[in-house]
Amino acid sequence: MKTYTYDVIVVGTGAAGYNAACRIKEFGKKSIAIVTEGINTGTSRNTGSDKQTYYKLGLGGDSPDSVYNMAENLFAGGSVDGDNALCEAALSVRSFMHLCELGVEFPVNRYGEYVGYKTDHDPYARATSAGPLTSKFMTEALEKKAQRLNIEIYSELLAIEVLKYDDRVCGLLCLEQLSGELIAFKCADIILATGGPAGIYADSVYPTCHTGTTSLALCAGSKAQNLTEWQYGLASVNPRWNVSGTYMQVLPRFVSIDKDGKEYEFLDDYFKDKYEALSAVFLKGYQWPFDSKKVLEGSSIIDILVYRECVLKNRRVYLDFTKNPFCMETIDFKKLSDEAFEYLNKAEACFGTPIERLLKMNTPAVELYKSKGVDITEEYLEIALCAQHNNGGIAVDMWWQTSVKGLFAVGECAGTHGVTRPGGSALNAGQVGSLRASQYVSENGNAQINDNEFNSIVEKVEKAYNDTFDILCKKEYNADKLIEKAQRRMSNFASAIRNKEKMVGALSETVNDLENLLLVAGVGNKSKLYIYFKLKDILITQIACLNAMIDYADTAGDTRGSSLYFDKRGSLRDGLEEMFRFCEENLNNRTKVQEVQLIDGRFKTSWRDVRPIPDNDDFFENIWRSYRENKNIY
Ligand SMILES: Cc1cc2nc3c(=O)[nH]c(=O)nc-3n(C[C@H](O)[C@H](O)[C@H](O)COP(=O)(O)OP(=O)(O)OC[C@H]3O[C@@H](n4cnc5c(N)ncnc54)[C@H](O)[C@@H]3O)c2cc1C
Repeated sequence: MKTYTYDVIVVGTGAAGYNAACRIKEFGKKSIAIVTEGINTGTSRNTGSDKQTYYKLGLGGDSPDSVYNMAENLFAGGSVDGDNALCEAALSVRSFMHLCELGVEFPVNRYGEYVGYKTDHDPYARATSAGPLTSKFMTEALEKKAQRLNIEIYSELLAIEVLKYDDRVCGLLCLEQLSGELIAFKCADIILATGGPAGIYADSVYPTCHTGTTSLALCAGSKAQNLTEWQYGLASVNPRWNVSGTYMQVLPRFVSIDKDGKEYEFLDDYFKDKYEALSAVFLKGYQWPFDSKKVLEGSSIIDILVYRECVLKNRRVYLDFTKNPFCMETIDFKKLSDEAFEYLNKAEACFGTPIERLLKMNTPAVELYKSKGVDITEEYLEIALCAQHNNGGIAVDMWWQTSVKGLFAVGECAGTHGVTRPGGSALNAGQVGSLRASQYVSENGNAQINDNEFNSIVEKVEKAYNDTFDILCKKEYNADKLIEKAQRRMSNFASAIRNKEKMVGALSETVNDLENLLLVAGVGNKSKLYIYFKLKDILITQIACLNAMIDYADTAGDTRGSSLYFDKRGSLRDGLEEMFRFCEENLNNRTKVQEVQLIDGRFKTSWRDVRPIPDNDDFFENIWRSYRENKNIY
């Protein structure tokens, strides 16, 4: 097996991975290389939204802001560790200015102030944006920097196992995707920047090229936390894009189609008052994602009605922009909620059909779909209630080190967010976490083991993997179909709408699929082996998430964030089926963090108190003295 040696390996070429690698190279103390399944893969480079947001400390205007204020707002998301929140606040300016200096065009006013706007869960206008493709611009700018720094990148390699010596990292095993050959990296530290575990869901707005690999850390023994906490919302499924903002504010028609091609305008079946329906659709424009607090009263009913068509009735759901809803020749806009009427009136859009209003208010929104092959001026746009972001992930300490020595997790694969998070804080957390991990490995990294010890570890794993490869290659290729089956099960039974019995059933099927994987799965030839590893990662990560969700239903059971847990003792919105009955959030649970860990082949769940925001009484001279000793990195 080919073997390379570096001090540190970064896995992933998203915004977080590139930043980690660039920082380590600049600190100049460690040798570093990046391993990626594809330079152009990942969520950062391939996603976007109406106005993709970056959240940072206030840098404009006259409202006072402080690191502690921002840390408190991040911490208020619930089940968040205070030390991570404090670091994300403290280093947000350094990380943001780094991107600005690299050429990401965040707008300033004539005086150079980074004027902000308010985003969700943000009491202060800290958000900014470089447009619909902020994360793509970030990734490209960081990639150029990595090229200037001559950072070595091993592309088309899938990382498949973290190699350990005793309880610490000693290397990384990878699969060359095309050849199906194994390659090993001997390294003392690994920084996983593998993104969110996107592959576990069928209904997803993550880019199709991104699946994530959370199981790498789980199988190495790292704890995960808050795996129950996701963001789901309405998105088109092909192409994958959030239908937020003006897509909803122009009041499109919601249509479902059954297997026989029969069409239903299903909002009409639920709402007695058509204008109430239209006002709820309007609100969805800026109340994305699905929010369980807006179920009993509010706009989340629209998400539920879409879910009901897709999952309960097995129909496909579409937005139709070409006609007004409910066969209305014209809409009497004054009958909408005041908010909706005032907005549409100000936008001079109280006329015509949804597409005419959209062309008036936001022509680029129409062009965007055209550029991706869908002409919404004529065609229906298929949508679903989709997974967009995992707030939880691999548990990390204040240096983004996991519970395994030498293994770090940064970006979306790290679980530093809780029940809610301010919009834009994911991109900030990715930049801050990758900086923190880089600082730590540069100053305090783990030690390498000697070559003989490493070679004997590699020999053992090589033999085991090659035996597995022989079995898989002898069978016909079906790994892609098995992935589709697993993803559909997860979307149907463990996404925004959760029912313990259904999740227990899904868990038992998923465990069964994993246990029988080698009997059932086939890849045909070595060039498809990497799909088998994706399938295995998806099943393991699903099992971890299902365990977390079932334990949550057993121990907490209340409904919070972007998911609804069925509870027969709870409240039900008029007109919905029993399965949507739930108990409202018990805020006491926000002081706890649920953890999941693979121990002796089984996922065990446990709860702990959140780590509070550190209460520092820093005196400059003391900080300076210790900084001169060790940069305060310990
Ligand atoms: C539609 C949408 C809109 C969003 N809007 C916002 C927003 O407005 N504000 C915000 O803050 N966040 C937003 N997010 C979230 C944010 O974009 C992501 O959290 C972030 O881009 C993740 O970056 P990352 O660097 O952690 O991972 P990614 O960019 O996903 O990169 C992961 C990298 O790891 C590689 N990789 C994974 N596994 C392996 C493996 N086993 N071996 C080798 N390589 C591997 C991948 O190929 C990829 O290169 C949005 C997300 C979506 C889907």
